Amino acid sequence: MVRPIVRDRFLLGMKATEAAQADLPAAMDLFDTLMAHRDHCIGMAANMIGKNKRIIAVMNGEEVLIMLNPRILEKKEPWETEEGCLSLSGVRKTTRWREIRVAWQDIHFRPKEGVFRGLTAQAIQHEADHLEGILI
Ligand SMILES: [Zn+2]
Repeated sequence: MVRPIVRDRFLLGMKATEAAQADLPAAMDLFDTLMAHRDHCIGMAANMIGKNKRIIAVMNGEEVLIMLNPRILEKKEPWETEEGCLSLSGVRKTTRWREIRVAWQDIHFRPKEGVFRGLTAQAIQHEADHLEGILI
């Protein structure tokens, strides 16, 4: 189900808690909501749809990655860039890493690990910040 986007800075500033089996419907809503905004958005965190759990959905090319409890294990090559956010207006400067290694669980709670670069890596970092209550 497509959910409305949270823009309340107090809610967005709260740290998300561990995702569990009961949160899978929220992961599906996050997927649906990202699909509804995909012409101008490449990633979303669950707290952006009012569910303060550690779930993110990011575009990886044409595919959507749903990551439960993602953790960034390694970062390489910092760079200065500008980003927008569906929950905020305008673009802001931020520092990201070109390459990251990430561990997460898929929707079957199987452990996954991967290396991401470029736009996908940037989206994962932006959404992982959301889980910590950090906005650009
Ligand atoms: Zn954002």
